[in-house]
Parts: sequence; structure tokens; C-alpha cells
Amino acid sequence: MTGPSLYVHIPFCETKCPYCDFNSFAVLGRDVDGYLDALRREMDARGVPGDPPTIFIGGGTPTVVTPEQLARYLGDITARLRPDPAREFTVEANPGSLTREKVAVLKEHGVNRVSLGAQSLVDRHLATLGRVHRAAEVEEAYRMVREAGIPRVNLDFIYGVPGMTLAEWAATLETAISWRPDHLSCYALIFEPGTEFHARRSAGRLNPIAEDRELAMFRYTERRLRRAGILRYEISNFARRGEECRHNLVYWRNGEYAGFGAGAFSYLQGRRTGNERHLGRYAEAVRGRGDAIATEERLEGEAAARETIVLGLRTSEGVDVEAVERRYGVDLGGLRGTIGRMRGLGLVAPDGPLRLARRGWRVADEVAAAFL
Ligand code: SF4
Repeated sequence: MTGPSLYVHIPFCETKCPYCDFNSFAVLGRDVDGYLDALRREMDARGVPGDPPTIFIGGGTPTVVTPEQLARYLGDITARLRPDPAREFTVEANPGSLTREKVAVLKEHGVNRVSLGAQSLVDRHLATLGRVHRAAEVEEAYRMVREAGIPRVNLDFIYGVPGMTLAEWAATLETAISWRPDHLSCYALIFEPGTEFHARRSAGRLNPIAEDRELAMFRYTERRLRRAGILRYEISNFARRGEECRHNLVYWRNGEYAGFGAGAFSYLQGRRTGNERHLGRYAEAVRGRGDAIATEERLEGEAAARETIVLGLRTSEGVDVEAVERRYGVDLGGLRGTIGRMRGLGLVAPDGPLRLARRGWRVADEVAAAFL
């Protein structure tokens, strides 16, 4: 790898989905150009890694802006980089926000991977999720990206939506598989504190599906995708061999990245910083001092080593504990007991790198917590 990866945050969406706790805001009435000015200023002041192994533009919905604004910020980013067509360059997009013109802009700027927020292929579930697109638009957007010659496409889905049956989830997967995607992300719906869904559930106005039904969906997903040659390589991520998202692997391997934009995180030389989340305060901070860092934490020694283990445990490749000890110059002998216990319970593989066994995937968070 040649240096830190690059993440850029575009925080605008058509509307705010009721389950979403990302740093994102409905675009209507927002000063998008003002935000892009601030983003450019931040990139100038802090300096963008010139040769990142991967780039990820996330949000929000990076494609909700106009084609001109899309071209503007992609141009601002690529002008600061050494051109490299082999570099993974992902942009997140939502079906309703994508047009042929915008896809052409992505292609022109070297984007070679699009991550489409499909979420469901059943209109009723899209409505429950508060999504503005319909199922038919997902296929349309998928075809548009493929036809433009953008080589890699991910589809994001959510299962465990209130009212969803296993048969409906299976049918959604079946349709998605028939499109031959390279990569699928399948997340269980989470009622994150602070979201509208969380409030509705607390008030008894939204009923989560039964835990055993959600578990059946979780298990079915892995089984069905494996048969289609799309393999789990992280708790919620599945890919054909070689099509894994390299940018996310940087996160899970506790690699370095530089993040720009409101609420973006960076992890450089053991220092993790987080930008101002509020759009006005972000722009003001960047105008004043060039950066907008609002939180900072140093991760060193054993704390960094444990974090590397927790992140690595999310992946099917797992983590080589001795390599982690060498990387951080620490002795993790204290963890041997925990590892032995987890092996005894059949939650992690009996030998080789520390990685989840089949039984461990479903309780991955609990297993990870034991290593913190
Ligand atoms: S489109 Fe995505 S980022 Fe935007 S509000 Fe919905 S879930 Fe959040």
C-alpha cells in the first residue's frame, strides 16, 4: 500500500430516513456550494494524501447534488491525486438520485465502483424504511451503472424490517443475485438511539420482527449467497473472490485513512480525529483555521493492538495475534485465556489466525467485546 486511504463525506440526502444515524441532512434549502467551498478549503489546508490506495466518497448521498456540483467536487479531489486507474474509487449513490448524466460524470472522473443503497426490492418495505425510491428504480440504477462501464457495483440491503417475512427477504436476494452483482452488503435493521425509528419503537408504534425470524434471515443470507459464489468476508459484507471492498478492508485492518468533510474521521500515525458534524460549525472552523477537528484520541500500544483485534475479528480472514504484537511492540499474553475460552465455546476457529467460527458470526459483537 502506498499511503493512507482517502474518505470524503458529502452529507446531503433527499430526505432523512427515519432509521439513519449518519451525519446526513435533507438537501433542500442547504448551501451545497458553500459546503463544497469549505471542503476544498479543508483539502487545501490539511493536504490530501496524493496517492491513496483507495478512495471512498460516502454520505449522505454523494449523488444527490446536481451534475455540476458532482463534477465540481470530484474534480477538486482528483486534481490533488496522482492518477491511477487501478486504484479503487467508490462513490455511494441512491437509486432515485442517479441519472445517466451523473453516472457519466462519475465515469469521467475515474470512479470504478458504485455502492448503491438499494435497501429492499419490495415497495412496502422501502416505504416502511422511509426511502424515496421504489424497487423498480433500483434495477434501473443498477443497469445504468453497468451500461456506463463502471466495472464494480455493490448493492446495500437491509433485512429485519418490521413486517418483513423470510420469504420476502429470500425473494429480494434471489432478484439481486440474478443481476450478478460483485458485492452485497446485508445489514440487520438497527434501532439506533436518537433516530425516529428508535423513538417510534420506544413509544410502541413500531414493532421489530421476532428475533428468531431475524436470525433465520441472517443464516439464510450466508447460505444462499455462498451458493451463488458470493462469500461472506465481513459480518455484513459478501463478495465474489477479489471483489471485496478494499477501502473497508483498510478500516478492518486498522489501516490509515484521511477523512475530509463534516463529521469525517481520520486515523493517521496513531491519532484518530473526528471533524465537526454540524455543517455551519464545520464551515466556520475550516474558514478560521483550515481544519475542523472536534475530537482527538491517541491509540497506542495495547489499546491500539486490542482495537486491531476487534476490527479484524469482523472479517473472515481474522487477525494474526502475533503480527499484531509485533506491529505495536506489545505482549498480548493476557489475551490467551480469552482466546482459549472462545475456542472452547466454538466461537472462534480452533487454530490459525484468530477468526470467528460459524457459530461466532451471529454473536460477533459479544466475542469482540471480550477483547477490549
Ligand atoms: S439516504 Fe442513507 S445516509 Fe441518507 S438519510 Fe437515508 S440512510 Fe441516511
